[in-house]
Amino acid sequence: MRIIIKVGTQVIAGKNGLDQKKIAKLIKEISLLLKRGHEVVLVTSGAIGAGLPQVPFMNPHRKKIAAAIGQPLLIHDYIREAKKYKFSIGQILILSDDFTNKERFKNFVSNIKAMLSHKILPIINENDVMKTEDLTIGDNDILGAKVAVGLKADKLLILTNQNGLHICNPDHDKNAKLIKKVSNIDSKIENLCSLDKSDLGLGGMISKVQAAKYATTHGVETLIGNGNKKGIITSAIGKNFPGTRFIKKT
Ligand code: GLU
Repeated sequence: MRIIIKVGTQVIAGKNGLDQKKIAKLIKEISLLLKRGHEVVLVTSGAIGAGLPQVPFMNPHRKKIAAAIGQPLLIHDYIREAKKYKFSIGQILILSDDFTNKERFKNFVSNIKAMLSHKILPIINENDVMKTEDLTIGDNDILGAKVAVGLKADKLLILTNQNGLHICNPDHDKNAKLIKKVSNIDSKIENLCSLDKSDLGLGGMISKVQAAKYATTHGVETLIGNGNKKGIITSAIGKNFPGTRFIKKT
């Protein structure tokens, strides 16, 4: 099975930068999938979150500087953890025109496939330092969905700090019920999403559902789940996923 895993900043970083234990857990679970012969691509946020503690000054370029500092820190941690399981990782930083330019997109897909065929874990993030308003993809949820569709993945797994999509915001109502399965993403489903988002990430639940809509209408089943839950990644390939499953359309 080919699975694209997108991790949000909240899943791997806190106010003081990257959380080593969370990164260790993520890579350990990915290693289990690789061991079983699955193909995995990781789309990761966290560069800005990783770098910001080292940019305490005010500057209009603060987030760009944080991304420039944080991206290598993030990759360094992924390399360290992947070494424990004896696999290599490769970094790909992209801009929106890498998707719109046909040649470049073909190049992107074939390079990723080559890495997968050699059991190398491709790790993708938006090129935060180089992006301009024109070149922005939006957020990493939609980036994950585009990667999943481009690579004709079997699944897109979006990991966040919520258990999935709820009938109302679980941060405001502890009894908010989790929706386990969504067959059709209509305005009723979209309206369930609160516009709240974390300080460091760009997305929020609405962008996850939009990403799920894009992926499912292009034939990729999408799962949204809690990245801090033990076993969440391995459960994504089974039948009992403890989050929200969005059924693919085609
Ligand atoms: N690319 C950003 C980062 O690595 C995060 C973008 C997002 O959260 O969607 O920090």
